[in-house]
Amino acid sequence: MRVFKFGGASVRNPESVRNVARIIRDHHGTDPLVVVLSAMGKTTNALEELCALFMGGQKDEMIEKYLAIKAMHFEVARGLFPDPGHHVYQVLEQSFYQLYYYITEVHGENYNYEYDRIVSTGETVSTQILSIYLNGIGLANRLVPARKLIITDANFRDARVDWIMSSQAIQEQMALSLDKDPGENLPPLVITQGFIGGTQQGFTTTLGREGSDFTAAIIAYALQAKEVVIWKDVPGLLNADPKIMNNAVLLPNISYQEAIELAYYGATVIHPKTLKPLLHKNIPLRVKSFHQPEMPGSIINNNEEGDNLIPSYIFKYNQVLVSLFPKDFSFIAEENLSRVFADFAKHGVRMNLMQNSAISFSACFDKDKTKTPALLHDLQKMFTVKYNEDLELITVRHYTRACMDRLISSKEIVMEQKNRTTLQLVVRPVKG
Ligand code: ASP
Ligand code: MG
Repeated sequence: MRVFKFGGASVRNPESVRNVARIIRDHHGTDPLVVVLSAMGKTTNALEELCALFMGGQKDEMIEKYLAIKAMHFEVARGLFPDPGHHVYQVLEQSFYQLYYYITEVHGENYNYEYDRIVSTGETVSTQILSIYLNGIGLANRLVPARKLIITDANFRDARVDWIMSSQAIQEQMALSLDKDPGENLPPLVITQGFIGGTQQGFTTTLGREGSDFTAAIIAYALQAKEVVIWKDVPGLLNADPKIMNNAVLLPNISYQEAIELAYYGATVIHPKTLKPLLHKNIPLRVKSFHQPEMPGSIINNNEEGDNLIPSYIFKYNQVLVSLFPKDFSFIAEENLSRVFADFAKHGVRMNLMQNSAISFSACFDKDKTKTPALLHDLQKMFTVKYNEDLELITVRHYTRACMDRLISSKEIVMEQKNRTTLQLVVRPVKG
């Protein structure tokens, strides 16, 4: 059993859908395969906008947005199914009609509930197109709705997975597929949606943005898969965001632990929740390029040997650094620290870095226009607050002398922290 996950960029137009089909055909060997698919291209963003218009009662703009999303999908379909009488068009008409009916007939009340109901359409239609296309080229498959596989609570937009019920549901659905002979002497091929779940009562939920990687991990966990492959538009895991560092290099093999650390510090290649279930069952995760499927890509498994060979860089922008000085001139100790942490927790602000001295405590966090002012307001009750913004936080895993010198020479360092494996610098970008 193997699980493949394809992201939105891999199915943004007819040519890329054909490419995905080629990859599936070339890699669908002796094992059953589950393919987890995201919404096409930037569809999820567009549906989020549609949802906001729906909730805001902006009917004309909403219909316009709906029509644009629908047109984009029909355009992709036309590139794949030249026959205008092909049944794919009926299937898509029906899915879009359901969305249309909902946004025009229903009065939205609970934002997160409506969001999941509306935004999940992206994955519904992308999987319909892929599944029908694969069937048409001789890759018989079964499209199983993720709502029947990923069972969650009703915490809409960020639903929590019920691992026991989901595992059971996934195993049952897979057993059904194994029973059916696809007729080509090929092992079963199952297509499902990433990002989507369902409550026991049958309400649609979602797992949080970019949650499709996580879906792949849940399915792999339940089926004790041999491996998960995430197909991306980059060659694999890189040691830095190539948009920021043009000399980024591939990390051929790192451990789960290292990947979890990288995700914790803000690396965005893999959804952070993805790794723990795989670690738990020792299922390797490969990250491969859908442009160059023959290249090995990166592998994340329990081998730690490659972890410290290449320094990795993680950049976080838009950072705020606060320094707090107790107003009663007391030293920084457990009592006032617990107050600081309580304030951060209350406002849902995560500290990216913290440091203290006898008389002050400093913390760096992401600026957020809804949370930061309220947090500062609370902190000011007990502390004199010094405040700096527009900073960058640079984290280097497995830093070397040379990479430290390079970083330090071009920036003004506001705060620095290091341990054996990790260097973190809060810097002020040098202007000009
Ligand atoms: N389509 C969803 C998103 O863009 C889920 C995913 O792609 O992982 O967030
Ligand atoms: Mg997506």
